[in-house]
Amino acid sequence: MITHRYCSQCGSGYPQSEEQPAHLRCVSCGAIRYDNPDVLTLAAVYAEDKLLLIQRGADPYKGKWALPGGYVERGESVEAAAARELREETGVNVDPYLFLAHGVISVTPINQVHVCLIAILDKIVEPIANEPEILAARWFSKDEYPLDNMWEPARNISAEAMFRPCVTRTISVIQQTDNAIRVIHTDVGLSHPWRNI
Ligand SMILES: [Zn+2]
Repeated sequence: MITHRYCSQCGSGYPQSEEQPAHLRCVSCGAIRYDNPDVLTLAAVYAEDKLLLIQRGADPYKGKWALPGGYVERGESVEAAAARELREETGVNVDPYLFLAHGVISVTPINQVHVCLIAILDKIVEPIANEPEILAARWFSKDEYPLDNMWEPARNISAEAMFRPCVTRTISVIQQTDNAIRVIHTDVGLSHPWRNI
């Protein structure tokens, strides 16, 4: 999804075509501009067998429910980004070190890679939606899970798979590649120590 029209080095226009090359090379100065996927982090936060979701207040997918999350910023770990986005969107504070790796979801049509993390809290914390970017934030039980009103990137993941970690207290891994998705169930528990590096 190349959208750049002008070279950032010399200002020359790129030739416009229907093709979507992996990178653009300026015909005037030779500078190469990459348009690599953006990395986003999604936080699947559970408490008391419920999952915290936000209702998006902006396009794309305005009005749809989604996991809290957003762009990983320069120099930021995905765990820190997840904690920051969660706090900004819902007012809920989670220690970044509580997050476990949960999913790697390539969304190639929109040139994004979503890294999904999971955290299980002891108790529900009442969320506060950060309007107008976030229309609402609330906890859903498995029976309430709004699959039909979830944003597009999450529509392939069933309530069963979404709630499995809090039901079984084990890690499952969600993997989405080009045109295929799988959920890998493990018997690995949710508690693991970190080792300093
Ligand atoms: Zn140039």
